[in-house]
Amino acid sequence: MEGIKLKLSTRILAGLVLGIIAGALLNAFLPGQVKAIDHYVLSPVGQAFIRIIQFIVVPVVFTSLIIGLTSLQGTGKIGSYTLKLLPLYIITSAVALAIGMVTAYLLKPGTGVSITDVGQGPGKVQKGQSLVDWLISIVPTNPFEALSTANLLQVIISAILIGVAMNLVKEKAKPFLALVESVYSIVERILQIILKVAPIGVFALMASVIATQGFGVVNKLFMYILGLILALAIMGVVYYLILLMVGARPNNFFKSFFPSFSLAFGTASSNAALPVAMDNAGNRYGMKREIASFALPFGTALKRDGAAILQGFNALFVAQFFDVHITASLIIAVFVSALLVSFSTAGVPGAGIIMMTTVLSAAGLPLEGIAIVAGVDRLTDGFRTALNVIGNVANAAVIDRWNK
Ligand code: ASP
Repeated sequence: MEGIKLKLSTRILAGLVLGIIAGALLNAFLPGQVKAIDHYVLSPVGQAFIRIIQFIVVPVVFTSLIIGLTSLQGTGKIGSYTLKLLPLYIITSAVALAIGMVTAYLLKPGTGVSITDVGQGPGKVQKGQSLVDWLISIVPTNPFEALSTANLLQVIISAILIGVAMNLVKEKAKPFLALVESVYSIVERILQIILKVAPIGVFALMASVIATQGFGVVNKLFMYILGLILALAIMGVVYYLILLMVGARPNNFFKSFFPSFSLAFGTASSNAALPVAMDNAGNRYGMKREIASFALPFGTALKRDGAAILQGFNALFVAQFFDVHITASLIIAVFVSALLVSFSTAGVPGAGIIMMTTVLSAAGLPLEGIAIVAGVDRLTDGFRTALNVIGNVANAAVIDRWNK
């Protein structure tokens, strides 16, 4: 079994690498045909893969959380996990954000770049949701709506309510629990089937990005891309050290969760990587089921180190680009708004860029900055999504370790 699973990681990695190579070749040698190939082959295959993997996100989260809750000694444990996870999330996100801002401050990716270099004028800017609206929106009004709209926090709250009530009604909940367990087994099986085509999916996604964007765009905002990836990598190292400190076997951690991290990179969607992360937690890393079934969906809904870094780094880039003086109050405004925004960024491709309006507005920075970086967003999205998943899973691993 282990052999098959290792082969899966290798196959996903091969899909990623071959996709990048194929994309680069298409971009270089068939520039005239790229649009059609992408439109009729690469994009449809890639999008179909993201869609089919999302097919199981809601059933996996809903059923595994109910199974986890009903197997706990008392549901009080969910409260205690939440109380440990939230401060950990805030502290690690603040560290990530600080790393992003310091990197931008030191590397100065925005100085010396002009609109003509970047080749993009001010474009249309999409507005993000306000924080208060977001807070209200996590409370479900209808369990079926929560499930059908795949609103993760609403699904979690619904599952907790149902799980708590199931524990209270005891015997009468048994048939429903049997149903939930049966659904969970079926969904797990569907995941195994979907994973067989994962290498093709990530191949198409990577080839699509590189073929249509090419590496030319990298030159224009070279320091922006490099600085952002550097900050994300530093935070990855910080997580390695945290796991080492708490004795959570960091090497084993990165190896066990590699399939979910590489899928996050390939799909640029934390949501799409969630079912695989849950599978890796139980079958490869050996995380306690009740922790994995709650902490991983909870973190997928909330925890975004990559988004925190993006917002902090990007805001300073925009300030440098437009020659805005960086004052202490600007730094505080960016820090506070980026931290909050990181918790409400959705786990889908390109979510981070939509949330930039909130941070730039809070700091009084020009929203035109968003149009300038929009062209390279997809190139960095894979890196930040990989860190989003690493951070989420690492925080769960810390709690898992503390409970052992
Ligand atoms: N794509 C990221 C994710 O799914 C969110 C972002 O755009 O930063 O986690």
